[in-house]
Amino acid sequence: MNLCKTMHRQPEHVMTFFLTEMGTSGSLDGQQRLVVKGRFGSRNCEVTLRRYINEYVICNTCKSPDTILTKENLLVFLRCEQCGSEQSVAPITSGFVATLEHRKIRT
Ligand SMILES: [Zn+2]
Repeated sequence: MNLCKTMHRQPEHVMTFFLTEMGTSGSLDGQQRLVVKGRFGSRNCEVTLRRYINEYVICNTCKSPDTILTKENLLVFLRCEQCGSEQSVAPITSGFVATLEHRKIRT
């Protein structure tokens, strides 16, 4: 969870992402370490972490990792401290949202 501090992210947010992506359950222990049920290789974790960083940490405009996540109503925004740009990011339950959108197109 040292990574969370480096990335200025809530451990809970990172955890939710990991558990959703890996389709498992887990929790944070007393030392704020993520404990995941099941066996996952370090490679698996690395790929997931990279996806998290791409989606929720790196600024799309200037590629800076110096960003913060802000929540407005139900929308989550990634605000860049370097260039000041703001972009909306998908909430972690994005799979569910995508399904809804898919249905809307069909009807
Ligand atoms: Zn930026």
